[in-house]
Amino acid sequence: MISRRALSLKPSATIGVANRAKALRREGVDVLSFATGEPDFDTPQVIKDAAVDALRTGQTRYMPTLGDRQTREAIAAKLRDENGIAGLTWEHVGVSAGAKQALFCLAHCLFDTPNAWEEPGEAILPVPIWVSYRPVIELAGGRVVEVPTTPQTGFKMTPGQLRSAITPRTRLLVLNSPCNPTGTMYGPGEIAALAEVVAEAARTIAPDLVVISDEIYERIVYGGIEHRSIGSIPEIAERTITVNGLSKAYAMTGWRAGYAACPGEFGARLIRSMGTYQGQISTNITSFVYPAIRVALRDCAAEVGAMCDAFARRAEVMHKGLSAIEGLASTKPVATFYAFPDVSSLFGSTTPGGRTLGSALDFAEALLEEARMAVVPGEDFGGCGGRHIRLSFACSTQQIEAGLERLAGFVRALRR
Ligand code: PMP
Ligand code: GLU
Repeated sequence: MISRRALSLKPSATIGVANRAKALRREGVDVLSFATGEPDFDTPQVIKDAAVDALRTGQTRYMPTLGDRQTREAIAAKLRDENGIAGLTWEHVGVSAGAKQALFCLAHCLFDTPNAWEEPGEAILPVPIWVSYRPVIELAGGRVVEVPTTPQTGFKMTPGQLRSAITPRTRLLVLNSPCNPTGTMYGPGEIAALAEVVAEAARTIAPDLVVISDEIYERIVYGGIEHRSIGSIPEIAERTITVNGLSKAYAMTGWRAGYAACPGEFGARLIRSMGTYQGQISTNITSFVYPAIRVALRDCAAEVGAMCDAFARRAEVMHKGLSAIEGLASTKPVATFYAFPDVSSLFGSTTPGGRTLGSALDFAEALLEEARMAVVPGEDFGGCGGRHIRLSFACSTQQIEAGLERLAGFVRALRR
């Protein structure tokens, strides 16, 4: 028998579509995949060399669960110097198998399964937002409170919306700026305004409120907005956990390297608890990856900048192409490598294969079956996501152009 917990856990939609596209390709079907949020670039050579050197010199054994002191200190220094998060030492940093594992452990350190007489703790998610937060928070015993955003408001939550969503049960606010899947981000003033609401709520109705700021796309920014870490704001610094990872900026998705950090006494305790969790799940990450993390953070600004420039160029091509397709409403991304057009004006139409499109899921399935193009349907990102599809443009311009042609052909052939 399989547990109710496991059976009720929703599989990741992003991973699901990506795997399906890969399986079809293995069968020889010519699928163009815009599913996975994964750079098509190879990891910079100096990073690989650092791992190979470590392997050659025998760094192949168990290591401290949250990483060696040198790597934790390197991450603390990066967050202090580049992100302005004061007071961080190596003890406030934990290294995990991707940002995903850090988030999983943190959710379990922040929420409890409520007793029958208790209300669950609440987590505020401005939606649409990445698919994994909701299931992981719910698995940990939390209740998700969605704050809806729309293309009309630049997919941003206002301070007023945040204030209204906070209750005495609120334990967590998740921010993902720049945001997967909307490609939006908050400017420094907007971050400060949200921080002010958090500080005020923490002083009054929600003393246990903490913020998880997932900044994994901080380096993939090209719309002219400055990235500001909310953890740099002194009033809420010691209740802000900054989560990040090397997957996106350094093209290291397969390496599984991420981290979480939070200054202060609470931060040190929280990171220790994260370590207890990780110690029962996976122990340290792959031992010869630590030196590679240090090299990436220290020596790869030029490579990261070049990849970001390429994503910026692709964003232009993707947005221009999507805007030219009648029936799609595309918002121009200012960061990340995702486009998130609204396809809902096409709901109710019928494909040449006889499918009637009633949802983003129908749209994505028909697009895959009939035009051999994989995109992620927006439902699992929450909120208005059910009217959208997500296209990752972390692929060549040539593939983007070919995909736009397929998508345009698919839409043209719909009977309205
Ligand atoms: N956060 C966001 C917003 C993401 O899009 C992803 C996708 N990979 C992750 C976290 C997890 O990344 P990783 O585990 O590869 O560090
Ligand atoms: N975060 C990426 C995405 O959204 C990778 C898959 C995942 O971890 O969700 O596609």
